[in-house]
Amino acid sequence: MTDLQRLIRDVPDFPRPGIVFRDIAPLLRSHFAPTIEAMSGLLNEAEWSRIDAVAGVESRGFMLGAPLALRHGKGFVPIRKRGKLPPPVVEIPYQLEYGEGVLEMQPGQGRVLLIDDVLATGGTLRAAADLCGLAGYQVDCLAVLLDLNLVPGFRWQGIPARTVIRYP
Ligand code: IMP
Repeated sequence: MTDLQRLIRDVPDFPRPGIVFRDIAPLLRSHFAPTIEAMSGLLNEAEWSRIDAVAGVESRGFMLGAPLALRHGKGFVPIRKRGKLPPPVVEIPYQLEYGEGVLEMQPGQGRVLLIDDVLATGGTLRAAADLCGLAGYQVDCLAVLLDLNLVPGFRWQGIPARTVIRYP
């Protein structure tokens, strides 16, 4: 277990009985800069230079994606839950670990790094990556802070999801 992983709090039976929620709040509170540095290191300099923007999934993908974009002088593109972005928007329905939802994004272009906090079933990241394509972007890389390893070897269109921490 890495030093960063030790700061993730396991919350049994949240948000439903039988689910162990991995809470990254203590990690962000005490080790935000090292967490962003660790995510930054998931791409090498050549990979960073090819990217135009970081796309982050609401809301913890914003917390991680925005500082990464700033750190590397890139733009930031929000992927939001339904009804938050003004038109024009492109949308995609998706299955959550705990239900269903719709993600939305404004159209654009360029190469993006797609960021979220946690990869569980992969439904969110897959939908967000599909949405980037529908909106006109090209997804170069996918990265998360935690991979719960529910889908070992997760890939989207052949692109693996890079991660700082992989469970168990
Ligand atoms: P997936 O779609 O099943 O891969 O679930 C990933 C999404 O659900 C991410 O956007 C996470 O924010 C959220 N999520 C799922 N499980 C956890 C968890 O244990 N801790 C924090 N967020 C989680």
